[in-house]
Amino acid sequence: MIVGEQKSIAEIKEIVKPFPKVLILGCGTCVKTCFAGGEDEVAVLASALRLAFKKDGVTIKIEELTVERQCEDEFVCEAVDAVGRNDTVLSLACGAGVQAVARRFSRSSVLPGVNTTFIGTLEKQGLFTEECTGCGHCELARFGAVCPVTRCAKKLLNGPCGGSQAGKCEIDPHTDCAWHLIIERLTALGQLDSLRSLVPPKNWRTSIAGGPRKLVREDHII
Ligand code: SF4
Ligand code: SF4
Repeated sequence: MIVGEQKSIAEIKEIVKPFPKVLILGCGTCVKTCFAGGEDEVAVLASALRLAFKKDGVTIKIEELTVERQCEDEFVCEAVDAVGRNDTVLSLACGAGVQAVARRFSRSSVLPGVNTTFIGTLEKQGLFTEECTGCGHCELARFGAVCPVTRCAKKLLNGPCGGSQAGKCEIDPHTDCAWHLIIERLTALGQLDSLRSLVPPKNWRTSIAGGPRKLVREDHII
């Protein structure tokens, strides 16, 4: 999932301040799972903003709505009336969702309420970890399904670097060494021999380094 964190109330208050009527638009998928922008977070944020503005003697109208996914037009359409009734949309989706809403409502102000952080997983209750940086050419098959591009601090494709201590990365002793995990996993799978050959340099043209990317599925174009 895409992991994000809600911006501080102070920052959100500052960006919505110029608008008398604000729609807080939640997203019911990734940001809901990481407690940044689902229905509950929309309700809590709306109450906090109402209180904060009331304390300042400022009148502001806040409407709440959550759609299933802000990155899909099919769901964004459900917000047409609410967007029309308000002066701005404070989107609690990831950066893709915010931009999809802005594209759909080209004459409306759309503001981000979440800092989009990474593609990750819920490792345990309250802990989200980064697992993938979307390099565009997945090589997890080589590495026992542990991504060195994302999880090794030095992005080593031929590791380890030799600095890890007790399975932890030399850059951060609270983070597992990706290469320790790769070796443990390949050992368990009986595939450690696959590391005997050098991994060639990665072609980064498929990554964001080559500019914004597109995925075209001709079979889905109508
Ligand atoms: S190899 Fe690339 S696509 Fe695969 S998990 Fe790592 S960053 Fe993501
Ligand atoms: S200690 Fe492990 S994860 Fe850290 S930089 Fe070295 S090989 Fe990568």
